[in-house]
This record gives sequence, C-alpha cells and structure tokens, in this order.
Amino acid sequence: MTAMNSRYPDNWTDIATAIKTSARWRCEKCGMACIQSGEDTSGLSRSDRAIRTLTVHHRNYQPEDNRPENLMALCTGCHLSYHQRRRGNVSPGQLELW
Ligand SMILES: [Zn+2]
Ligand SMILES: [Zn+2]
Repeated sequence: MTAMNSRYPDNWTDIATAIKTSARWRCEKCGMACIQSGEDTSGLSRSDRAIRTLTVHHRNYQPEDNRPENLMALCTGCHLSYHQRRRGNVSPGQLELW
C-alpha cells in the first residue's frame, strides 16, 4: 500500500505505536484509556471504538517533524478539538495522520 500522504515517513506506524505505547495507550490530555493495538474490541460498539481510538498529534502541526518531543498521544475527541481550534474543519478520518 502506498502512503496516503507523502509528508509522512515510511515508518510512521512504528513511530506512532512507540508514542502510544509510551503514553500507555492513554490520552495525554484527558487520560482516557484507549484501545491498544491487538486488543479485542468485539465487545465495543462502533462509536465506542471510534471514541477510544488513540491518535498521535504533532504539537507544532508539522507532520514532517517526528521528533518524540513534537508528538503526543490524544484520543479522537481531544485531537479533533485541537485541530478545530486551529483550522476549522478536519474530519475524524484525517486525524489518523495529523
Ligand atoms: Zn482525550
Ligand atoms: Zn494533530
């Protein structure tokens, strides 16, 4: 599969997983426990899964800047609020990479 966005490095998934693991799969803003990679989510509804998905945010909004200190783990809701404040409308689907 080709990358959705060429601004991201090939090993973005590895970088993101490392950030999420070091955050212990909790949102760094609200502290919500999110779904861990490989966790059984069959008992969760679709919306619960969406809410509890952990994403990785670039503090300076520069996706090329993947230094650990520029990255933070955020749940979908907190991540969305960061970007809504900044640029208006971002769909949750886009947040996987932002
Ligand atoms: Zn949160
Ligand atoms: Zn972000």
